[in-house]
Amino acid sequence: MTMKTYVKSLRCVECGREYKIDPIYVCEFCFGPLEVTYDYERIKLDMTRQKVESRPHNMWRYRELLPIDGDPVTGFDTGYTPLMNARNLARAWGVKEIYLKDDSVNHPTLSFKDRVVAVAVTKAKEFGFDTVACASTGNLANSVAAQSARAGMKRFIFTPADLELSKTINSLVYHPNLVTVDGNYDEVNRLCSEVANKYHWAFVNINIRPFYGEGSKSLGFEIAEQLGWKTPHNIVVPNASGSLMTKIWKSFKELEKLGLVPTVKTKVFAAQATGCNPITTAIKDDSDVIKPVKPRTIAKSLAIGNPADGYYAAKVTKDTGGYGEDSTDQEIVDAMKLLAETEGVFAETAGGVTVSAAKKLVQSGRISKDETLVICITGNGLKTTEAVVDHLQRPTPIRPNMEAFEELLKKLQ
Ligand SMILES: *Cc1c(COP(=O)(O)O)cnc(C)c1O
Ligand SMILES: [Zn+2]
Repeated sequence: MTMKTYVKSLRCVECGREYKIDPIYVCEFCFGPLEVTYDYERIKLDMTRQKVESRPHNMWRYRELLPIDGDPVTGFDTGYTPLMNARNLARAWGVKEIYLKDDSVNHPTLSFKDRVVAVAVTKAKEFGFDTVACASTGNLANSVAAQSARAGMKRFIFTPADLELSKTINSLVYHPNLVTVDGNYDEVNRLCSEVANKYHWAFVNINIRPFYGEGSKSLGFEIAEQLGWKTPHNIVVPNASGSLMTKIWKSFKELEKLGLVPTVKTKVFAAQATGCNPITTAIKDDSDVIKPVKPRTIAKSLAIGNPADGYYAAKVTKDTGGYGEDSTDQEIVDAMKLLAETEGVFAETAGGVTVSAAKKLVQSGRISKDETLVICITGNGLKTTEAVVDHLQRPTPIRPNMEAFEELLKKLQ
């Protein structure tokens, strides 16, 4: 498929100044973040529900609203992950309808980050870069490593040194230049900003960030389509930098603007770990100021103490009538087990954060039990087994005979 682009410009979110499409990310005048704008009038003529539905089951079915000029270069079927009707969880919590948007099975690296990287790597190639780079809490590293390998690009990946073993292996196997840093994500990110100034590389979440962020919208488009072209009453989203949540909101508003869904009345709720909760704290304090924190949580993928989009994320929850909630390490583990036992979904720690937060929001009445709730599961539990290994009861082996088995059976019953 060769496509025409509907992208108009980059625009400063704060002062509205426009820039042409380039690998830039802050406004020269006010230092506000830049955002991709589209020609919605033309998209309205070309993008219909029918046309979208006729396309392959991946994120590119919404290509009019994604900021690439040509064909995607990564060649994976990223996106169009399941929206599961979670009847057991709904019954347990007394909620009318709960759906899990399950990006733990996303392609190729089992997290929502495959969406943002699919756009960023394609855009990097369109800009003429030969090297892709990122600062990551783990999942982004995995996805950049895999997708830039397949796109035939050089890759530099920066992460904190203390990541989960499985996240490290899931980067290393693609043979990138992996730079592990003695420090937390915020320190890694600061280093990367300096590296990005000096080297002509495509840092997917620094100089390519405006395009990267657009990839997250596909998650929102899919939820709306999978619900029969409508948006849910409530959605709970895990927050690291806050980007995903703001982009899900943007995706709903774009579909509304194009007449593809009815008026959006969705309340958007933020979930964070108690050990790293700068965004949910601002929401609970009804404050405009995001106070940076030093992360201490098992939810390492969400451990960003100074979130780039925190202000905008908190604003989305406020503007939509949503709220924020956070979860302790113990609550995260309990929720990971609950999700696995009730719905057969093994989510990573971020999923535990989100499920636990959703539960609290239902219990406190912030989320009505008579409405539809979507919970975003953004990563796979096989990458964070450390979190649960000591909380599961492992069986004692038995001798290989019937007598031993039946002895055990008596104890199990
Ligand atoms: C990166 C990530 C998020 C959210 O990231 P944002 O920076 O807020 O866009 C959520 N869940 C998982 C598992 C992640 O890796
Ligand atoms: Zn500006």
